[in-house]
Amino acid sequence: MIYREIGKTGKKASIIGLGCEHLDRKPYEQVKNTIDAAIAGGINIFDIFMPGAEVREFLSKALGSRRNEVLIQGHIGSTDIGQQYDISRDLPTVKRFFEDHLRLCNGYIDFGMLFFIDSDDDYKNVFETGIADYALKLKEKGDIGHIGFSSHNPATAIKAVNTGLVEIMLFSINPAFDIIHTDDSIFTHLDKGFDTDRFTGLEPKRAQLYRLCEQKNVGITVMKALGAGKLISAEHTPFKKPLTAAQCVHYALSRPAVASVLPGCKTPEEIQDVLKYFDLNEEELDYTDVLSSIGTGMKGSCFYCSHCQPCPGNIDIAAVNKYLDITLLDTAAIPPSIRSHYQNLSHKGNECIKCGSCENRCPFGVPVILNMEKAEKLLGV
Ligand code: SF4
Ligand code: SF4
Repeated sequence: MIYREIGKTGKKASIIGLGCEHLDRKPYEQVKNTIDAAIAGGINIFDIFMPGAEVREFLSKALGSRRNEVLIQGHIGSTDIGQQYDISRDLPTVKRFFEDHLRLCNGYIDFGMLFFIDSDDDYKNVFETGIADYALKLKEKGDIGHIGFSSHNPATAIKAVNTGLVEIMLFSINPAFDIIHTDDSIFTHLDKGFDTDRFTGLEPKRAQLYRLCEQKNVGITVMKALGAGKLISAEHTPFKKPLTAAQCVHYALSRPAVASVLPGCKTPEEIQDVLKYFDLNEEELDYTDVLSSIGTGMKGSCFYCSHCQPCPGNIDIAAVNKYLDITLLDTAAIPPSIRSHYQNLSHKGNECIKCGSCENRCPFGVPVILNMEKAEKLLGV
């Protein structure tokens, strides 16, 4: 297992975690065996958004004394009224469900996630009400370690990140969602099948969101990395062929600020399958062939895929492009951490000998030589 820092939280997450939603309404033995397999595989981060009393109790019992060895994302506003899972913005209801979850987690939840911040109304009803104050009080009291939020909408997520209140974001990321037209809801594409006419190339708001998170040191955990299974299905894939689960995981892990991808496994076998990621080589993880087959609008934006390697100057081209992209968000206020990351690279943009081999290999037509020059100008000593 590999572990990555989650933004500025000071916590380290396994790069593959577990989204527990598919353990909902499963027998205790299955929950226990799945959690055991996850922990045995080095997984240390678990997302528990489900408000159902039974699944929460099963997860708590399955973790047992290992609770304090793992990181839990619990959700503030996920409720279960009349057996229907729902979002609540009613503070007493929100408190009741979250405090019950706290009780089951030995009185401490690592990440208190403000739940489902997708629309302007969600934003207002959480960040401009007593719910955000409630999260702050939980943090002050030490009931939660950090405040986070979950979202599927990049425009709203950008607003939430800009509040400065949050340190972690759970967001839906995969190669198809990242190229969907900015006006579309991902849920329409999931419900009705991907409409490839709405693919526009790297969606600017999503690119901006990931870069903003890296700039502000907000860690990202990833849901829906496989697009609810559609991206790995021969029948439902929007691409010329299905991606593999490992390629989807690899794609999400190569976005800026991403700390961990949380696939929704529901059996020990599924856990073992997803952990095969670590046995694969770069070629087997490469997703560029599938993604570049879309054609339209895919030119010019770096996907941080490293398909352009090897570089004779040993420059990590994807990393330089990533730091440059973050810098270009606001060249008047370059975060010191980004400048320092760039300067700590073993080989920087000024070592580019302009051989052009990277540009010949890049499937997305990125002007790498120009980017190396720009990065050195903006971030070099
Ligand atoms: S320059 Fe092209 S090949 Fe290299 S990391 Fe960026 S998108 Fe991938
Ligand atoms: S053009 Fe520069 S960055 Fe690209 S492979 Fe050659 S030396 Fe490396």
